[in-house]
Amino acid sequence: MSELLDARTEQLVTEFGRRFGDTPTHVSRGPGRVNLIGEHTDYNDGFVLPVALERDVRFVIRPRADRSVRLYSVDFDEGFTFDLDKIAYDGDRLWANYIQGMAASLQREGLDLVGLDAVLSGNIPRASGLSSSAALEIAAAEAFLTAAGKHGVLAGTRLAQLAQRAENEFVGVNCGIMDQFISVLGKKNHALLIDCRSLDYELVPVPPEAALVIGNTRASRSLANSAYNERRWECETGVGLLQEVLPGIRSLRDVTSEQLETHRQRLPERVYRRCQHVVSENARVLQMVEALRNGDLSTAGRLMNASHTSLRDHYEVSSPALDAMVDAMQSVPGCYGARLTGAGFGGCAVALVRPGAEQAVADAIFEQYPKVTNIWPEVYVTTAADGARVTEIK
Ligand code: ADP
Ligand code: MG
Repeated sequence: MSELLDARTEQLVTEFGRRFGDTPTHVSRGPGRVNLIGEHTDYNDGFVLPVALERDVRFVIRPRADRSVRLYSVDFDEGFTFDLDKIAYDGDRLWANYIQGMAASLQREGLDLVGLDAVLSGNIPRASGLSSSAALEIAAAEAFLTAAGKHGVLAGTRLAQLAQRAENEFVGVNCGIMDQFISVLGKKNHALLIDCRSLDYELVPVPPEAALVIGNTRASRSLANSAYNERRWECETGVGLLQEVLPGIRSLRDVTSEQLETHRQRLPERVYRRCQHVVSENARVLQMVEALRNGDLSTAGRLMNASHTSLRDHYEVSSPALDAMVDAMQSVPGCYGARLTGAGFGGCAVALVRPGAEQAVADAIFEQYPKVTNIWPEVYVTTAADGARVTEIK
C-alpha cells in the first residue's frame, strides 16, 4: 500500500465526500523543505543543499468533464471555484492564488488541463520558512497534471521552474528556485545539492546516523523583506567593484576567498563582510557534501555551526530569537551542529543530531528558548523524505 494512503488522506477523502458527494480518484503530495546549508547563496548563483520534509500539502482530487476547478481548503475552511479559461488574481483568498497561478503557468507551457474537484490541506507550518507555498504549488501541479492524464510529462526541473514562475509572476513573491526544486526532486534519506546557476543537481546521501530537528522560533519575520533586498543590493555592489579587477566574474559564485582577501580594500567594510559570507558559504556547501559522503558528521555539524556564525556576524540576518534557538540546540551533546535556515530574522533553525538525541534537543529548546524570548516554540523531528508523489485511490 502506498504510504500516501494514510489517516490524513482518509480524512481528506471523507471531507471530499461531504463537499462534493463523491469519492476522489487520486491523492497528490508536495513536501516542504529545510535547507541544511547554503543560505543567501541562491541569488549569488551559488550552491544550496536542502532536504524534503515528511510534512506536506496534499490534494485529493477527482477530474471533471468541464473547465471548472472547485477547491475546498480544510485549513482555511473556505471554498473557491474558478474557470481554467478565466483565471484572475483574487485579493481575498491568497491561498487559492497559488493554485490558480500554477494552473495558469502549466497552461502557458502549452499543457491542456481539465477541471477538477479538490480538497486540500497541509501540516507544514505556514510562513515559517519551511516553504509551505512551494509545497502547495507542487501538490497543485501534480493534481492538475494527473487529472489531465499528463502526470510525468514534464521534467522535474521544468515543473519546478513553472511553479517558481507561478509564485513570482502570479502571486507576486520574489522567491528563488530552491523550494520548488527540492519539493519535486527530493529523495528519502538524501539531500539535494543544487547549482543555482546551471540548475544541475546531485543527490547526496544523508547517513543513517543523522536525524534532523527543526526549531520554529515563531518570532516575527517582519524585517526579513527589506533586509533581503538590501543584502541582494550589497552583493551586487560587491560584484561591481570586484569586476574592476576581476573582469571574468559574473557573480560572487565566481570569487574565491583568496581573491576576496586580495581585493578587500576595494570594498566598503560592510560590503566586504556580505561578500565574505557568500564566498565562504559556497565553499562550506561543497565541504558539507564531502562530509556527508564520508559519513563524517562532526565535520558536517561544524560546518553548520560556522554557517550560523557567518550569517550572524558577517551577513547579519540572525536575530536574538534565532541565536537563542541555535544556542539551545548546540548545548546538547548529541547535536552535531545547528544553524538558522531560510532568509533569517525569524522562522526556523535546523540541527543535525544523533538518532536518539532528538528528544534531548527538543527538551533543551523548550527549557532554554522561552526563557530568553518569552515565546513558546515548536519543534519538528524529521528525516529526509521523498519529493512530490501521486497515488491512485481505489
Ligand atoms: P512559507 O515560508 O511557508 O512558504 P509563504 O508566505 O511563502 O510561507 O507561503 C504561505 C502561504 O501559502 C499561506 O499564506 C497560504 O496562502 C499558502 N498555503 C500554505 N500552506 C497552505 C495550506 N495547507 N492550505 C492553503 N494554503 C496554504
Ligand atoms: Mg514560501
